[in-house]
Amino acid sequence: MSLVALAGAARAGIELSGIALDAAVAALPPHGRVARAWAVLGTVLDPEVPALSVRDLGIVREVREVRELVTPSDDAPGSQLEIVLTPTYSGCPATEVIEQDCLLAINTAGLGPARVTLRRAPAWTTDWISESGKAKLSAYGIAPPGPVDLSAGVPMRIVRRGADRNPPAIACPRCASLQTERLSAFGATACKSLYRCLTCREPFEHFKPI
Ligand SMILES: [Zn+2]
Repeated sequence: MSLVALAGAARAGIELSGIALDAAVAALPPHGRVARAWAVLGTVLDPEVPALSVRDLGIVREVREVRELVTPSDDAPGSQLEIVLTPTYSGCPATEVIEQDCLLAINTAGLGPARVTLRRAPAWTTDWISESGKAKLSAYGIAPPGPVDLSAGVPMRIVRRGADRNPPAIACPRCASLQTERLSAFGATACKSLYRCLTCREPFEHFKPI
């Protein structure tokens, strides 16, 4: 079986042994492997917001192939997949879980070897959440973040208690009413705040724009 035929078989979903699959993946053009990695990363869910994939959240910044030794004992350089992630905020405890989940998904899809590089600058912003990601958040019952106000923006989000007494009206993700009130600046995770809808009386979380 030629490598091209193997690659075709792999695309058609025909089950192959691990070695044959590796050969098939190796035979694919580089863009094919990177494109497939992007597709796989679209299925890796964020542990804190499981309605969204890490792609929807915009934390996957880059996927590329790098030529380097996979292990020190290798005779020839191999082609590693490098996944560049920007955590939602520095020190987010979910980052390590996300790294492991991404690598597991890539390796399970036969696209490895792969490694993750963390890129902390520029800092992640909710503006990087895709439009489909915002729609998924809303369907999940979380009010999506609005656009970040750059003129009012400061990198650190340390505000004194009570400083933000009149936050902008947030639409209820269930009934779209703007008659909502903020109950708490922090929801289940630090990136969300807790609201209540005065129309349908349901509580909901709002993903804060940062
Ligand atoms: Zn409502």
